[in-house]
Amino acid sequence: MKNGICKGCGASIVWIGMQSGKSMPCDASPVYYKEHKNGKDKIVTPNGIVITCDIVTNPNEADGVGYKSHFATCTKAGSFRKKG
Ligand SMILES: [Zn+2]
Repeated sequence: MKNGICKGCGASIVWIGMQSGKSMPCDASPVYYKEHKNGKDKIVTPNGIVITCDIVTNPNEADGVGYKSHFATCTKAGSFRKKG
């Protein structure tokens, strides 16, 4: 995992190496998640696995710690991907 700065919004991010071999920019602060196949959130584990889950605040309820994709939270996400 490599630290970086988002070129779009200037936030601290981490680059997580995905199983596909690509790197995914994620928010630098880890979150607790509870795995849930119909969950509304997606996180990336430090091993580069995407998990559908619900993000929880209570560590006792969590299955583990992961990172939110920065694509989902970046205020300048439009500069990364073209929609349409
Ligand atoms: Zn950003």
